[in-house]
Amino acid sequence: MNLDALAFGAHADDVELACGGTLIKLAAWGYQTGVIALTRGELATRGSSEIRAQEFQESAALMNLAFHKMLDIPDGRVEVNQENKLKIIEEIRACKPRIVFAPYWVARHPDHEKTSHLVRESAFLAGLIKLDTGQAAFRPHQVIFYQERYEFPPSFIVDISSWHEQKLKSIMAYKSQFLGQNEADPKNEKTSINRPEFLDRIETRDRQYGAYIGVKYGEPFLVREAIKVNDPVEFFGPEYLSAIP
Ligand SMILES: [Zn+2]
Repeated sequence: MNLDALAFGAHADDVELACGGTLIKLAAWGYQTGVIALTRGELATRGSSEIRAQEFQESAALMNLAFHKMLDIPDGRVEVNQENKLKIIEEIRACKPRIVFAPYWVARHPDHEKTSHLVRESAFLAGLIKLDTGQAAFRPHQVIFYQERYEFPPSFIVDISSWHEQKLKSIMAYKSQFLGQNEADPKNEKTSINRPEFLDRIETRDRQYGAYIGVKYGEPFLVREAIKVNDPVEFFGPEYLSAIP
């Protein structure tokens, strides 16, 4: 398999909330995209790991993912150790993603913080030829961090204006997580009055980052390295300027 973009989350739904719009946009543009959840979410307050797996499946279809998978790292116990690194290295070598998305390393949930470190380290180690997993070595071109609870000054922001609605649909696939038992009627999703408060928070943040680049909705990303620009005249050309109001 040769994926263009592979996003890792500690739990199913982490990726949708933070960078679902970008993944949906990439798929719409013809790229092969994937999501891997490190855990089955068995410690989630609402739902169960079986329900979560079903919702993960539904969300993957809404995002037009070429690949999605849940690993079996215990929920609430994501640790940065060799065993877990090898699991992620094997997935990276199998999927050969050009870019990898991971949570920002400053996070509220310890599993998210550990996932950030695990993915970054594994993406590097996957390129070492003598680290034997029975697969060819492969290193993604770039690890890109997505934003959750805590903000960072973005390295870049992706315009997701045309894909925001689909992003909200993929989030709402997690009915057990985001809707009360009496609200599990899909009809409730269609009215803005009934929609849960957290969707407004997602929309507010996406609007905020969209405003920074002069579009309706945006998702912010961080890379640790400086971004190489070969031709600043071309890069900051008419297309770039046209987005600024
Ligand atoms: Zn999570």
